[in-house]
Amino acid sequence: MIRKLISRVFGGKKAAANHHEPAVIPVSGHGITRDRISSGSRRVCETLQAKGFKAFVVGGAVRDLLIGAEPKDFDVATDATPEEVRAAFRRSRIIGRRFQIVHVMMGQETLEVTTFRGELGADTKKDEHGRVLHDNVFGSQAEDAARRDFTANALYYDPTTEAVIDYHHGVGDLKAKTLRMIGEPRARYREDPVRMLRAVRLAAKLGLIIDPEASKPIREMAGLLENVPAARLFDEMLKLLTSGHSVKCLTQLREAGLHHGLLPLLDVILEQPMGEKFVMLALANTDERIRRGKGTSPGFLFATLLWHEVLAHWEKIKAGGEAKIPALYQAMDTVLDVQGEKLAITRRIAGDIKDIWALQPRFEQRAGKRPYALLEQPRFRAGYDFLVLRAQAGEIDMEMADWWTRFQNVDGDKRAEMLLPEAAGDKKKRRRRKKKPANGDVDRGGDE
Ligand code: ATP
Ligand code: MG
Repeated sequence: MIRKLISRVFGGKKAAANHHEPAVIPVSGHGITRDRISSGSRRVCETLQAKGFKAFVVGGAVRDLLIGAEPKDFDVATDATPEEVRAAFRRSRIIGRRFQIVHVMMGQETLEVTTFRGELGADTKKDEHGRVLHDNVFGSQAEDAARRDFTANALYYDPTTEAVIDYHHGVGDLKAKTLRMIGEPRARYREDPVRMLRAVRLAAKLGLIIDPEASKPIREMAGLLENVPAARLFDEMLKLLTSGHSVKCLTQLREAGLHHGLLPLLDVILEQPMGEKFVMLALANTDERIRRGKGTSPGFLFATLLWHEVLAHWEKIKAGGEAKIPALYQAMDTVLDVQGEKLAITRRIAGDIKDIWALQPRFEQRAGKRPYALLEQPRFRAGYDFLVLRAQAGEIDMEMADWWTRFQNVDGDKRAEMLLPEAAGDKKKRRRRKKKPANGDVDRGGDE
């Protein structure tokens, strides 16, 4: 009570925002009929409402439907507690420790059901820069709306009435193609610096302009990203790079001065003339794949982002007298040690990245049995795609990539014809090995 009173006196604007009446927009005003939402989310809302709770589809899904985009997933917000949600659905489980959410399984769908979050209070735990550490108080729907980041993300859709409930003029902002922060942008960035990245990503993905009030402070506040746990940055970075709009996102990140604290070595990479071309090509390629509904792997993506860093280290280590392949492995480790820690690249992804890098020198060997062995590598496809990018960026000769394109596609006889002559030393070694196990007739035939 006292807290509310104080915030009403001192934080008039925020308190007013939290407690005003929402606009209730009927279907005639927005056109989203209930068949547009997934059957699972509809059933979750209906079941909870039948038990007397409030329940809405919320967030990105409503926003995407309003601008005619296909929602990625449908989240539900409710005033039922996690235990109450859990009790309402047989196939459900509570996840998360600090702020519990419930996963409800409906056929093939898994719905994320969240209990309305409450206002941040004076007792909210924050780090020394003002970043909110614990956020686990339940609240009213109005408070839940005020806790969300952008007005377009604070929309609630009721499948029963087909109304959109709009606390912060989100529908109007969307119509005006504006991404507007709820509350005071600087304060909201301080609470959670990742919102700066979300602003850039959502604006790029949805074709919105970030409201100047929200875009202005980004440059000077970008440094706050350094205090965000690496794992969270990694997740957000991955969302950004796999949004299908990564080139636009990256361009805007640079304009906003945001790539500094984020991918610290990206500055260096982008400033190398070859590096920038390579990264941009790789991202354009990824965007294209995603828009065509093809998958992409985080390993491949990060392998491209860090490749020129590897090249630079590789050169240096070779110049120090190390042999080619050991030098490459050392360079890979150095780059992954530095970036892996900063970005919380998981071990599994780091393994994928290394596989792709380590295959690269093997594409140079186009004689004898080695090309066949390379084709059989489980990571061949990723390694080859990577090789093509390097060629397109002008780092290596296109002739080599073309050779591998043909080598994969032609049949056995033609393949053998494509092989380059072995270097003299190599030839002797390989012949000797080959002779031993092989049956003479077959071997002679194969040598032609
Ligand atoms: P996407 O299309 O990538 O899923 P989204 O807006 O749905 O975008 P989610 O991460 O799925 O993003 O978040 C769901 C909702 O939760 C958002 O629409 C927003 O209302 C709220 N939200 C997410 N992250 C934050 C944040 N950092 N601060 C405040 N609210 C957030
Ligand atoms: Mg979402």
